[in-house]
Amino acid sequence: MIRNVVVVGGGTAGWMTATYLNKTFGDRVTVTVVESPRVPPIGVGEATFSTVRHFFQYLGLSEPEWMPSCGASYKTAIRFENWRGVGSVFYHPFERFRTVDGYDLADWWLALGGDTASLTGECLLVPQLCEDRRAPRRADGRLFAAGLQGSSFQEQEQRNQFPYAYHFDASLLAQFLTTFGKERGVRHVLANVAEVVQDERGWISHLVTPEHGEVHGDLFIDCTGFRGLLINQTLGERFVSFEDMLPNNRAVALRVPRDMATVGIDPYTTATAMDAGWIWTIPLYGRVGTGYVYSDKYCSPEEAEATLRAFAAPDQPELEANHIRMRIGRNERSWVNNCVAIGLSSGFVEPLESTGIFFIQNGIEQLVRHFPDDDWAPALTDAYNKQVGEVIDGVREFLVLHYRAAARNDTQYWKDAKTRVLPPGMAERLDGWSSLLPDENTIYPHFHGFEAYSWRVMLLGLGGHPTSPRPVLRHLDPAPARQELDRLREDAQQLVKELPSCYEYLHQLHS
Ligand code: FAD
Repeated sequence: MIRNVVVVGGGTAGWMTATYLNKTFGDRVTVTVVESPRVPPIGVGEATFSTVRHFFQYLGLSEPEWMPSCGASYKTAIRFENWRGVGSVFYHPFERFRTVDGYDLADWWLALGGDTASLTGECLLVPQLCEDRRAPRRADGRLFAAGLQGSSFQEQEQRNQFPYAYHFDASLLAQFLTTFGKERGVRHVLANVAEVVQDERGWISHLVTPEHGEVHGDLFIDCTGFRGLLINQTLGERFVSFEDMLPNNRAVALRVPRDMATVGIDPYTTATAMDAGWIWTIPLYGRVGTGYVYSDKYCSPEEAEATLRAFAAPDQPELEANHIRMRIGRNERSWVNNCVAIGLSSGFVEPLESTGIFFIQNGIEQLVRHFPDDDWAPALTDAYNKQVGEVIDGVREFLVLHYRAAARNDTQYWKDAKTRVLPPGMAERLDGWSSLLPDENTIYPHFHGFEAYSWRVMLLGLGGHPTSPRPVLRHLDPAPARQELDRLREDAQQLVKELPSCYEYLHQLHS
């Protein structure tokens, strides 16, 4: 039996892993977090994916129990600005399309001759609520779409997709989970790992720290961020860069205080396309997190900082900018011998679509499913590595689509985005989507979090890749689809009247 797990790193990945394992195994497995007092966590990572609610549910934490401690707010969509051309806007919400006579409203919209630029505003409910900055819950706490006829949300609640995710301060979450974990028996060692000692087989036997001497364990989890202290620096696992496909390798971030009572809160993340990348705007409760993600082949750090300041905080030159070099790609294997890398040490595919914490959660859940005993069966390790690799590669392909299919083409950065290397198989898939919108049989073929509707939303919203209506719909009566579009608009108007603003709801929750 594996009795002793040592987690190296006390950022979001380290503490999410430690608390999850503690919840799963109780006192049957000792979990120790070794965290450097000198190396701070990365300090960004504020928007999440809808499945993150399963993590909090698993720990038994309700929204009022954790959200106020983490400056948390709601995220119902990502608003894409300028990706189709300067001035353009569309949304990627956590919302499937409604279906009429077996075909979803995206198919119908094309068949009816609708403009793809207005697809998400006309064929989905959430973007209409975003425009009015409504909360995703009613004042009494019920989910916003509870009871709506024809809505796809009840189904979403049962399956993996939930209609919203969260924005939060990842550093505050790590602090919250530190207290939560320690109260439940996670051991916390504040010490810098100076040496990682291997046995004669090359497996990790123990860590050496100046502050606490040796730390021994059976299984070691590398949560040391981009440095990959155990998995790369010690075990020498190869890191496969994605920079030929996704060139953004730097970011500069600001924390901008905001008086939410005056300006309110958007229930969405905004991703604004810029000359050499894009800027995220993430409204937390009490401040906005913002950052310019760019490639240093097209923009210097000084230019990027100046652009971000002018965009997000022109009157606050005193705010400190956090410049970050990003390692884009993944380890060939995230689990090697008795070491599993989770978080930035495992892989990262740039912040677009907010999947860093989703990868962490997936890594932890898969670790529990494949948890070894002292036989260390290679089949467990292999299955883990296959699944984790597929998830990251799937997200990589989804992000490549964002740049490839964006109609924006006005700078060298955006021009080059149309000619970069594509992931294996993607060229054929893109080709097929010109005649038939992506569906579950034609998107990247392994689980990666994103469903076919997301690929449809992005392909049509980005507007730079040709698409065609489904021919069969010319033979069907379009009247029911038109009625459904009318009903959707009426539902949205009704909900805008009934729902509290996002600020009102969060103010109550945080009080
Ligand atoms: P880190 O936060 O870097 O933590 C590393 C830990 O290792 C620290 O505690 C450090 O003390 C410890 N450590 C290092 N060396 C030693 C040593 N020798 N001894 C002991 N301890 C050591 N994800 C999202 O889901 N949504 C987002 O919106 C998002 N935005 C991002 C934006 C940017 C620019 C970047 C770079 C990432 C973003 N991410 C996002 C990813 C997210 O930030 C990370 O997935 C998350 O914060 C987890 O980081 P981590 O714990 O793996 O690493």
